[in-house]
Amino acid sequence: MKKIIITIDGWSSCGKSTLARGLAKELQYVYIDSGAMYRAITLFFLRHHIDWSDTHAVESHLADVSLEFHQNAHSEKSEMYLNGENVEYVIRDMVVAEKVSEVAALGPVRTFAVAQQRKMGTRKGIVMDGRDIGTTVFPSAELKIFMTADNAVRVERRFKELYAKNPNISIEEVKANLEMRDYIDSHREISPLRQAEDAVLLDNSYMTMEEQLVWAMKLVHERL
Ligand code: C5P
Repeated sequence: MKKIIITIDGWSSCGKSTLARGLAKELQYVYIDSGAMYRAITLFFLRHHIDWSDTHAVESHLADVSLEFHQNAHSEKSEMYLNGENVEYVIRDMVVAEKVSEVAALGPVRTFAVAQQRKMGTRKGIVMDGRDIGTTVFPSAELKIFMTADNAVRVERRFKELYAKNPNISIEEVKANLEMRDYIDSHREISPLRQAEDAVLLDNSYMTMEEQLVWAMKLVHERL
């Protein structure tokens, strides 16, 4: 059976990972959350007090970063490991979310992450979500989806997710973080967030998960 590469890019908290995971399950493909890699690098830099305005420091410390995804047998979800430690939970923290877009804008960080992402796609059969997957990581992917949703809907979704972990969080804080990340991600010099010319746009503001999956599977069958 022919295998393809599916890329899902878009704004923060559009439900990219939910759709990507759904597609991977349906097709028995590997799902890769590229954002988790940038979050794990940010966590490493924060923990080690690395001054990321210093390019040399960034380059030399990246040599100490090892990123791996491992499947959690219980939840059947793939989880991010940083130097052997499961950091899947802690990388979702607001402390990381506050800094990740700054770190992800750095040239050496992107070179480091993109090289690993490309390796993961050599045998195809992969669904990867992020910001530059269709434009930079896999420019010749067979299916590219670009996701968007109403701002209020996105804020509400992320707020619910974060509130479950931390009831002290405010909706204003979540809104400000999404706006800041979207601004930095779409204005950075290297691989800014944008829709690839050959990507199909999906606005899922008022669509259920099932409707999105049916919509995307139709596109997959056209490409296979
Ligand atoms: O997908 P998620 O929201 O977890 O991504 C966190 C951050 O990682 C984004 O806001 C962006 O700064 C960065 N990112 C990126 N390129 C990707 C994926 C994520 O720059 N392919």
